Amino acid sequence: MSQHYAVIIVGGGIVGATAACALAQAGIDVALIDARNPERQWPAKPVDIRVSALTRASQNILQAVGVWPAMQQRGVGAYEHMHVWDAQSSGVLHFDAAETEFPVLGHIVENRVTVASLWDKLETLPAASLICPSTVADLEINSEQAVVHLDNGQALTAELVIAADGRDSALRTMVGIQTAGWEYKQSGLVATVSTEKSHRQTAWQHFLPEGPLAFLPLVNGQCSIVWTLSIARAQHYVNLAEEAFLQELEQALESKLGQVLTVGPRAAFALRFQYAKQYTHERFVLIGDAAHAMHPLAGQGANAGLLDAAAIAELIIKADRLGRPIGSHKLLRRYERWRKGDNLAMMSSMDVINKMYAQQNDVFRQLRGTGMSLINHSGWLKNYFNHYAMGLRDDLPAMASTVS
Ligand SMILES: Cc1cc2nc3c(=O)[nH]c(=O)nc-3n(C[C@H](O)[C@H](O)[C@H](O)COP(=O)(O)OP(=O)(O)OC[C@H]3O[C@@H](n4cnc5c(N)ncnc54)[C@H](O)[C@@H]3O)c2cc1C
Repeated sequence: MSQHYAVIIVGGGIVGATAACALAQAGIDVALIDARNPERQWPAKPVDIRVSALTRASQNILQAVGVWPAMQQRGVGAYEHMHVWDAQSSGVLHFDAAETEFPVLGHIVENRVTVASLWDKLETLPAASLICPSTVADLEINSEQAVVHLDNGQALTAELVIAADGRDSALRTMVGIQTAGWEYKQSGLVATVSTEKSHRQTAWQHFLPEGPLAFLPLVNGQCSIVWTLSIARAQHYVNLAEEAFLQELEQALESKLGQVLTVGPRAAFALRFQYAKQYTHERFVLIGDAAHAMHPLAGQGANAGLLDAAAIAELIIKADRLGRPIGSHKLLRRYERWRKGDNLAMMSSMDVINKMYAQQNDVFRQLRGTGMSLINHSGWLKNYFNHYAMGLRDDLPAMASTVS
């Protein structure tokens, strides 16, 4: 006989594991399946090259599911300032937590810190079952239930399947949901570096003609870089001799942090704009990168996914408490209406910013410089952008808006 759950989540990355925690904490039987066993322990050095800038809204969600203290213990790097400047105009923007009601603007966190803390928490929740390493070989959905066939021949059933299996989601393909979008012809080069001068709890972002270069402040004093480059240039920099790379990097940051002293392993990720044409299907829903992949220039992909996780969990928990079916078409449509528009608006604004800074003609240059200066000197515009960047906008799931 197959094991039955209320919800099966496929993909235990930041987004899927957060949804699982929220549901299991509310006593809803949930199985979390992942193809890999997530890393739980690691040596103090080096820092993982995959990090995320997490917003205040994301912090609230992670606090609500009970993992933020464990993440703090493992190490999260707060940033109080954000400094953005344009290489081709006089445009400068400076955001300061002191201008908000919060002590910090956000946190830079290694992805493995978030994932390990979520999985540790899930192990303590009786309503959570962790199934890994395991992949889904097939998915059958009928009006009664969803049947997930694992690669080991085991079958699991559920009222609802949530796919959080990343931007190349196999489950999305299995149910026939199509995507639209394009490849950026750009890669994000990531690495951990140490610099001569302190990062001063500041997230630095320099808009260069080929793409933005971000220096994100880590808790151990180092910086995590995300450098958007053409695919060929990113590959060239991945392979470039260390000394030459350090010099190019320092130049690209205009020596704002003095010399760049060391760099760890470098990797380049091809960037894509991609959205699922539908977020739902009968007894099936997409969250996180499986639903939307966006340009990382403002570090919003995981943050958007965490809002998806909180939104679907909130709707399921509410329906369950009212004794209503959790796989109903009505509930899934509500989720889609709630999250799809917000995600498309976020991804489109990232896309417009990316294209706007790539423009090198004089009119655009002047417009950028004037626009940035206008925002920098206007209290309410700055306040608006500050709150948007912190993920604090209208219509948030309750978990995201509860100030912790
Ligand atoms: C260079 C770069 C920098 C970024 N910086 C930021 C940032 O600062 N802030 C931010 O918010 N976002 C950032 N992002 C985006 C962020 O990394 C992603 O949006 C986020 O990791 C997506 O999480 P996810 O859980 O949806 O998917 P993933 O992290 O892709 O997790 C998917 C999970 O599903 C599992 N899986 C896949 N297929 C299967 C299968 N068939 N069966 C079982 N399990 C499966 C995988 O093992 C994995 O654990 C950045 C992205 C890039 C490329």
